Amino acid sequence: MIYTELMRSISIIMPVLAILLLVLFFSVSSSGDPQTKLVCSVCGQEIGDGERYLVASQTGDIFCSQKCLDSTFPRCGACGAIVRQGFQKEGAFYCSQQCLETTFLICVGCGRPQSDGFLHDTEKGERFVCVQCQNKPKCFACGLPGDGQTMSDGRAICTECRKSAIVAPRHIVHMALEVRQFLKEKLDIYTDHQIAYAIVDVQELKGMTGHSRQGTELGLFSYRVTMDGGRTVYEEYTIYLAYGIPEDRLREVIAHELAHDWMRAVYPHIRDLRIIEGWAEYVASRVNEEYGKAYLNKRMENNPDPIYGDGYRLIKRIAENQGVKGLEALFSRKNAEGAESDGRGTQ
Ligand SMILES: [Zn+2]
Ligand SMILES: [Zn+2]
Ligand SMILES: [Zn+2]
Ligand SMILES: [Zn+2]
Ligand SMILES: [Zn+2]
Repeated sequence: MIYTELMRSISIIMPVLAILLLVLFFSVSSSGDPQTKLVCSVCGQEIGDGERYLVASQTGDIFCSQKCLDSTFPRCGACGAIVRQGFQKEGAFYCSQQCLETTFLICVGCGRPQSDGFLHDTEKGERFVCVQCQNKPKCFACGLPGDGQTMSDGRAICTECRKSAIVAPRHIVHMALEVRQFLKEKLDIYTDHQIAYAIVDVQELKGMTGHSRQGTELGLFSYRVTMDGGRTVYEEYTIYLAYGIPEDRLREVIAHELAHDWMRAVYPHIRDLRIIEGWAEYVASRVNEEYGKAYLNKRMENNPDPIYGDGYRLIKRIAENQGVKGLEALFSRKNAEGAESDGRGTQ
């Protein structure tokens, strides 16, 4: 299980609107030149002798009245008031800070409207994180930074994920049994192994996986065999799960680890990690779909990891184009290759 993040920065430009400088004139009855007739640049009405009028100092435009002048100002995009001075954002004008803030996005980290920040392409859609919150600890489950909580093993968890985190071991094991039943009935993926479930913290998980991959490992399938003179005496199957995983994600992690159990039993010689992890991710994605949580698969689709991400996309492509037969052919071939190299290696 690894987490990936796609993020793009959004920047909002807010220059202060340059206000049109105006000079107020009184037209003095100059009784002179009748050819210099003044005309309102908005309504076209002639300015008579002795009449008040307005001139824009920058452009020299003439207005017969305040009303004509006002009609040249932009309107506030939020309240509709005339904007003589204010803000401009993405082509629209705003009369005040208050009106401007109606366009701000609410930061998922601090819950406040903010002008600048980042849009995170998360499984549940785009989420906005402000500049200040961007550097806060990232939630281990959804990856968003913010004012969350720190779990006892050092993982940060956001408020949203925390709400659905399953903490009680018996609930975790209950879900594992449910997912196993589901895989058997719906996808025909099962073994008769006696699997033990262990709830651990991520430090323990990291210690067991040895090779640390990017992101956080949230689950691990372990198979141990005790041999006596070439004879199998005892086999032990354990799925280790990090505690406190949000419900949706936990189901996915369990499905992933159960897929490992199945593959090790049916194709025990496959060594290609891309096939092993890609298959586990694919099975997890099918479970997500069946439970109406297809949005979780976005993580896999966008995962840049050459094993988990590429593996998932490879298995998915074969499953979609060639079906179960295509997968069986691939697994059989990889299993034979592995068996051959195992034979050359140790025996
Ligand atoms: Zn006018
Ligand atoms: Zn306004
Ligand atoms: Zn924030
Ligand atoms: Zn979260
Ligand atoms: Zn795995």
